[in-house]
This record gives sequence, structure tokens and C-alpha cells, in this order.
Amino acid sequence: MITGVRLIIIGRQGAGKGTQCLRMSRHYVVPHISTGDMLRAAVREGTELGRMAQQVIEAGQLVGDDIMIGLVDQRLQQDDARSRGYILDGFPRTVTQAEALDRISANRPIDAVIDIDVPRDMVIARISSRRTCRDCGANYTAKGEERSPWICDSCGGDVVQRADDTPDAINQRLDLYESQTSPLLDYYERQGRLSVVDGSAAPDEVFARLTSAIDAARHRS
Ligand code: AMP
Repeated sequence: MITGVRLIIIGRQGAGKGTQCLRMSRHYVVPHISTGDMLRAAVREGTELGRMAQQVIEAGQLVGDDIMIGLVDQRLQQDDARSRGYILDGFPRTVTQAEALDRISANRPIDAVIDIDVPRDMVIARISSRRTCRDCGANYTAKGEERSPWICDSCGGDVVQRADDTPDAINQRLDLYESQTSPLLDYYERQGRLSVVDGSAAPDEVFARLTSAIDAARHRS
């Protein structure tokens, strides 16, 4: 166990970010900050942000940069993130968000920016069978033999298919990823800050690759 790290995790939907971020947050003892989870929590709570986000998420679009930057800025100012660090998952999603994050984190710079790389056809297959706990966000793989209702092993919540995990919505989100999020990879690559990790292997192997990429990035900086 190594306490403290500041990480940005990038990757297509279904690249295994949720699973790997959870493992890394235990390994480094830092909060896993997923902007998708934050927005889905706001939707469940029925806040003003949640009502707006629901329409955007279901349409497969991105929530506006200003709103997202404000949300993350506030979260990173909380004690746990300030003192130990964080794993950012789903943010930044655009170059505008990345530039804002550079300003927000100027005093405590990011240790590593990692792209978990999994080809598009492989993530489509993974997402189509993905089921998610409505309460804690744990991910499961549907094999077609589950009981209904499906209850989460970790928290007892309902395990369902996310509204944006249907084939049409997946393709739209992946198109959006290519057009808006891929430029992020160029942004970090140009600055020599990007580590690419092949995420197509089994979860244990991907986790080992991630921790060694993080060690290498820390030695470089
Ligand atoms: P995710 O769980 O990361 O796939 O996020 C689910 C949805 O939330 C996305 O498809 C977007 O509509 C929205 N979202 C999450 N993070 C961001 C972000 N950084 N910028 C804009 N929209 C976001």
C-alpha cells in the first residue's frame, strides 16, 4: 500500500476504468472521483444539476464545460483530495477541461495521466453485457443466467443496465469520445505527460501495468 497519488485516467467507455480506479483507490488510499458517478448521484437526488444532467446523459451528449469544471474544482478542494490526492475518472473530457484542471492543480501537480487503451470493437462487446449497481456503481457482466431482480453483492442495491449502455447510446458515446476526448490524448502527449497502458488483458494484469506506469511517471517527474 502506497499512500497518496494524483492521477487522471482516460479511456473509452468500457475500457475498465471503473474497475481499475476502484482497485487503485484502495491501493493508493485516495478517493476515486468519477464525474459520471457524481452526475448519476445528482440525477437520483433530483437536484437542479441532476435534472439537467439526466437529459444530457440520456441524449449521449456532454454536460457543459463550465458546470463540470465548477463541480470538480469544488470536489478537489475537499480534505481527502487535498491531503492524499485523487483518481479522476471521466474528467477532463475536453481540452478546455484539461486546461482548467492544469490551473486548478497548479500547486499540487498531477503525477500521471494514463490512457487505458482498448479497441472500439472490444469495448462495445464489454459494455453490451455490462450491468451496474444503481446504488454503489459496482459493475457486473451479464451472462444471461442471472436472477431477477439482480441484487448487488457489495451493497444490496439493484443491478441494472444503465440507460446509456444500450447499443445506440454506446455508439454515440464512442463517436463523441473519438471527436472530443481523443484531442485530450494529443494535448497530454505533446507535453510528454501521457502513459498508454494496454487494457485488453485480464484485470489483474492491467492493474499491474497501471501501477508500473504510475511508478515510471513519478520517477520521470
Ligand atoms: P461516464 O460514466 O464517465 O461515461 O459518464 C456518463 C455521462 O456523464 C457522459 O456520457 C456525459 O454525458 C456525462 N459526463 C461525465 N463526465 C463528464 C465530463 N467531464 N464532461 C462532460 N460530461 C460528462
